[in-house]
Amino acid sequence: MSAVKVVLPDNSELELPEGATGLDAARAIGPKLAEQAVLVRSNGAVRDLRLPLGDRERIQLLTIRDKDDPDALAVLRHSSAHLLAEAVRRLYPGVKIAIGPPIDNGFYYDIEFPQPIHEADLERIEDEIRRELVEGREWTREEVPADEARRRFLDENEPYKVELVETAEGPISFYTQSHEDRSDFTDLCRGPHLQNSKPIKALKLTGLAGAYWRGDERNTQLTRIYGTAFYTQEDLDAHLERLEEARRRDHRRLGPQLDLFHLSDHSPGSPFWHPKGMVIWNELEDLRRRENLRRGYLEVKTPLLYDEETYETSGHLQNYEEHIFWVQGHEQGAKRLALKPMNCPGHMLLFGSRLRSYRELPLRFAESSTLHRDEKGGTLHGLLRVKHITQDDAHVFVAEDQIQDEIAGMVDFVRYLYDLFGLVPRAELSTRPDNRLGTDEQWDRAEAALEEALKRHQFEYAIGEGEGTFYGPKIDLHMSDSLGRSWQMGTIQLDYQMPVRFGLTYVGADNHEHHPVVIHRALLGSLERFVGILTEHYAGAFPFWLSPVQVRMIPVGADHRAATHELARKLEPYRVEVDESDDTVGKRIRNAEVEKVPVVVVYGDKESDDALAVRERGGGQSTLSLSEFRARLATLEPWQAGADPSLTS
Ligand SMILES: [Zn+2]
Ligand SMILES: [Zn+2]
Repeated sequence: MSAVKVVLPDNSELELPEGATGLDAARAIGPKLAEQAVLVRSNGAVRDLRLPLGDRERIQLLTIRDKDDPDALAVLRHSSAHLLAEAVRRLYPGVKIAIGPPIDNGFYYDIEFPQPIHEADLERIEDEIRRELVEGREWTREEVPADEARRRFLDENEPYKVELVETAEGPISFYTQSHEDRSDFTDLCRGPHLQNSKPIKALKLTGLAGAYWRGDERNTQLTRIYGTAFYTQEDLDAHLERLEEARRRDHRRLGPQLDLFHLSDHSPGSPFWHPKGMVIWNELEDLRRRENLRRGYLEVKTPLLYDEETYETSGHLQNYEEHIFWVQGHEQGAKRLALKPMNCPGHMLLFGSRLRSYRELPLRFAESSTLHRDEKGGTLHGLLRVKHITQDDAHVFVAEDQIQDEIAGMVDFVRYLYDLFGLVPRAELSTRPDNRLGTDEQWDRAEAALEEALKRHQFEYAIGEGEGTFYGPKIDLHMSDSLGRSWQMGTIQLDYQMPVRFGLTYVGADNHEHHPVVIHRALLGSLERFVGILTEHYAGAFPFWLSPVQVRMIPVGADHRAATHELARKLEPYRVEVDESDDTVGKRIRNAEVEKVPVVVVYGDKESDDALAVRERGGGQSTLSLSEFRARLATLEPWQAGADPSLTS
């Protein structure tokens, strides 16, 4: 009998009979290893323990002790998904099962239920899985011919599995999970799977969602049950704690709770901003205006509606149509108009509205008007993806030799803005794609200008090779939300093309006409998204300057109310609120904490303008005179505290 030799991680060799599997290799090393093995890894790829090994193959056997290894977790969770399918089939006769893969942090199974199920049903399903775990399940693997697999699922009335068999490539394998002599459930699956269910020490179903079969909205909508599983209970507990922290920060929960905004099906993807949310919005808008003004931007306002021709010229009609909302007027023969999804076309028309000279360049048009983009319903996500969107947008028209300085100024601006909030965005520099306009020389200069600016401001950045747009390279800034998902924030895009399409020129020093280059830039990006990210970043405890209520006054008794109102007047223009409710002082202090008000002043018999009892969020308590208090508040405004690098340098 011939033999195979495999190489172990310590470089030792192991000789095994031909056809030996990963499990055989484990057995040859020791019974304990064989019992605890969950997976074979070979050259970074994972493989089922039951599959034969190749000669000279380098293998690594993963066991239950590799409890934090992503591959070891994936095989555990994938096996858990099969337990979920078995439980659901037993509890809900008539269900049809589709697919159940492992994912980051867990697994899911997509299932068609005869009757809809609800979050409350998850507990029952979880109990059923727990029963399976107590009984124990062994997995066996077999390879079957396609027509046999097909027949089997036709018999079982599992149309999704039939379709999967029909579109499968390569050999078809089945995994059967059984308990003693009872064969319980066989699933079409590529694997790999655990030997048995013993390593699954902790499992939790975490949620429900709708999901289209094969991700296609024309198909049936299935119910996706999410879950997660771990090798130890402690690991599950730690994971649930992290989820709870993410939930605590989730802007979709905090927004309504702090009375900042809400969303309604009456206008999908379009936030309703409440008075307190508007305070934050307006502070950001003030910041945008003030900083733009200091950096030579000119505020403009362009229309919301444009004709088809404009979008044909800009290229949006050809490349962005699916996101455009159309509006039809009542007048006879009225042209249909589109709600702008971006400001660029308006700014191009504005530039082209009269003769321009090189002396006007760089010409910086800034506008934060309302944009509409028809984002698909399933992609909408709180404030992070909306249909009604507002950007801190600008288009800067430059001569080619001004690109470098202008980009440097923008990256400096980005640094200033994000530092103000303590945000650390991840930058990505996208370079020339294969299909592009402009000369290699132009691209060389443009890419170098972007990269140099990132380096000068010590941004960490990744290079997106070939991911620039056809009209120029760009820098994108990304931030993560509380759930760790990445969202694009600001962008700086060089564009040689759009001014040409709109026939824009300026008269140069040489008296000839030249095309300007335009730089599209939004630095915070979408203000809606920015507020969403800020809410999660601060967990709702906004810094003093952004807080909807900055100071909460608490008069101890009814006869202290007049004095607190008088004090509130003296503190203008700070946003001061007097809590005159009948709750106890302690309760009112707690309410202010829940609402995350940064400064609370309690006013009773002992207090006066010479002695105010001041409590700051985070625990600081002090007795201050009114003038000391004002001085203290002033330090909480970032640009008054000398924290503004561009003002102090
Ligand atoms: Zn599977
Ligand atoms: Zn633009």
